[in-house]
Amino acid sequence: MIGGTSIGKTICSICYEDLKPLVEDLQAISICGHVFHELCLQQWFEYCSSAKKCSCPVCKQSCSASNVNRLYFQSVGDSNDLILSQNVEDEDPRELRGQVQRLEVKVKGLSSLLERQGKELKDVNDQVNSIAFLDTSNIGVISGIEEIRVGISLFYFIFLLILFGCD
Ligand SMILES: [Zn+2]
Ligand SMILES: [Zn+2]
Repeated sequence: MIGGTSIGKTICSICYEDLKPLVEDLQAISICGHVFHELCLQQWFEYCSSAKKCSCPVCKQSCSASNVNRLYFQSVGDSNDLILSQNVEDEDPRELRGQVQRLEVKVKGLSSLLERQGKELKDVNDQVNSIAFLDTSNIGVISGIEEIRVGISLFYFIFLLILFGCD
């Protein structure tokens, strides 16, 4: 804690924020034991299930939203003291500035990629619209295109993960 050392920090591999067992709701995937924020994991499974293939964000073992366990920690002492000291740690201005700088570099590098992907998405949508217009009875083609759309959404999710995660 002194000097903002990051040795032994536990983080959520979805949002890359610290895991704070006593003040946050945490869940573990029961198959592999990896731990995440409850909200992060729920959102992950929402995205996963739209692609019909769920896996652990860390080790890629396949799992489903039912393979999670809520974690409960026992503590001694006043938990208010803990919240206070963690907040002080979070507000280390030097560390925050460093994080902001790293993120700015990342945003610059990735925004042009996002632009390109946005154009491709528009092309796919144009194709979907024209095909649907030509032959609305061809359900096979349309569902195939839906899968492409889902794939692209998943790509965006992963993109956002990269964007908001820091190394
Ligand atoms: Zn998280
Ligand atoms: Zn895992």
